[in-house]
Amino acid sequence: MTQRFENSVALVTGAGSGIGQTCVRQFLNDGAIVVAADIDATASAPDDEVFKAARDNKRLHFIKCDVSNRLDCENCVNETVKLFGRLDILINSAGISQRNVRPEADFEETWDQVMAVNLKGSMLMSHAAVEKMKLNSPSSGAIVNISSIMGCVVYNESDKLSDGFNPYPHSKGAILQLTRDLAVHLAPDGIRVNSVCPGFVETQFTKGLQDNPELHRKLAARHPLGRFGTPDEIANVILFLASAQASFVTGANWSVDGGYLAQ
Ligand code: NAP
Repeated sequence: MTQRFENSVALVTGAGSGIGQTCVRQFLNDGAIVVAADIDATASAPDDEVFKAARDNKRLHFIKCDVSNRLDCENCVNETVKLFGRLDILINSAGISQRNVRPEADFEETWDQVMAVNLKGSMLMSHAAVEKMKLNSPSSGAIVNISSIMGCVVYNESDKLSDGFNPYPHSKGAILQLTRDLAVHLAPDGIRVNSVCPGFVETQFTKGLQDNPELHRKLAARHPLGRFGTPDEIANVILFLASAQASFVTGANWSVDGGYLAQ
């Protein structure tokens, strides 16, 4: 049976954990050659059969890359093309929240750091990737950015997750406009750009929230489906948007949120 991504080269950031790591696994299972980039290169290497087999078959390569650093992004893309000859797909999954910033940081440092990873990182990686995608013959590519329901609506006041200066929703709202802007400008080059808006998802990213039973229950109940999503449920839609099945989809944002935004 032909696999959806046979002969395609996919680069995934934030590949050491959660949604990014799950995208890597799904791409490998669906025939892609994958470059897994993460700020912590050792974290990108789970000890399981899919990853081991792909490594042995030279279909998987790990790169240490801090997406907030322009040189890292350019090196990462250059190394991908040097190793595998082309770049077809970019998944911008690296992301942080204010919970990842050192506790002593004030609101300005926190804002700068979250924006640098979530927004600037997606822009820098896309900038470097587009240059290579245009060299495909014919020019072609697919980029999927990860926004959030919090890019579309504000946190519920009673959950006390923001005082209005939380940079996370600001960064995720801007991802939606980055997606639309790139999509329109890159359409003539055959490069599609889309985003997904996950609801709350069971990953390391939300561990602090999941570890608080009262808050976890409250947040889960805010999704009409009554629970957090799984990384596979988000990756399923990301891979669809990256695939040829979505050949007429660009500039779009897909909610993958158990109905959160429909209310
Ligand atoms: P995750 O499990 O924390 O994975 C994110 C990965 O990105 C981690 O391996 C992290 O490394 C890495 N990373 C952090 N800073 C980086 C940098 N500067 N350069 C490269 N890699 C970096 O989070 P996730 O839940 O999979 O989230 C993936 C994306 O989905 C993020 O953009 C997030 O905002 C978005 N999202 C998540 C949820 C959710 O509920 N989980 C909901 C909506 C949207 P370290 O672990 O070493 O920091």
